[in-house]
Amino acid sequence: MVAIAIDGPAGAGKSTIARALAQELDYIYVDTGALYRAIGLYATAHEAQLDSPQQVGCLLPDIKLDLRQIEGIQHVFMNGYDVSEEIRQPEISMAASKVSALPEVRQFLFALQQNLAMENNVVMDGRDIGTVVLPAAQVKIFLTATPEERARRRYRELCEKGMQVDYDQLLAEVKQRDHNDATRAIAPLKQAADAVLVDTTEDTLEQAVQRIVQIVKEKLQDVL
Ligand code: C5P
Repeated sequence: MVAIAIDGPAGAGKSTIARALAQELDYIYVDTGALYRAIGLYATAHEAQLDSPQQVGCLLPDIKLDLRQIEGIQHVFMNGYDVSEEIRQPEISMAASKVSALPEVRQFLFALQQNLAMENNVVMDGRDIGTVVLPAAQVKIFLTATPEERARRRYRELCEKGMQVDYDQLLAEVKQRDHNDATRAIAPLKQAADAVLVDTTEDTLEQAVQRIVQIVKEKLQDVL
């Protein structure tokens, strides 16, 4: 099986790029952030303290997650319900960031992510895919862009969905999540030694997609 790992901070363009790549190569796209978001949603709904290993940990056995591709789009099912829309709410971004620092949560999702890559050719995006989840991935990309540009992209995306958002608040959240992800003790956000670094600040997403499709195709020719 072939695995392409795309890591980087929130809003660097990972999901758009990974989805386009998966389509181009006819691989399965796996958005691992959605899994952390689903756990953040469940813990929030159950009023758990989000940084408590005990409170969040004891909910995990009740959570059944399933990723399904419907018309080429990943949907997240939690205990039989499609939560793909709900997990995109801004407060769930922060909840995901908090619960993702818990070793219990990371361990819970580890096997699920590895199994997907064992059974399918995947383009998997996240924070620790190239470093921890799929260290043997044939191609690794680390995507980045300035926090301001990433917050602008999130702002546009949420506005297009008709959500009421405040740019300054989004920027503060982007910075807070970067800090949480980069400083947590377990599986922090960091570039794998063998990942290609791509800064998308100056690119439109279409340009970034083209650049990365090119890089990945060249890399795959070398390794396959
Ligand atoms: O990618 P997305 O913004 O949807 O991820 C939500 C949160 O899940 C991130 O802020 C990060 O804390 C966490 N996450 C993670 N490891 C991954 C993917 C996401 O810790 N592989």
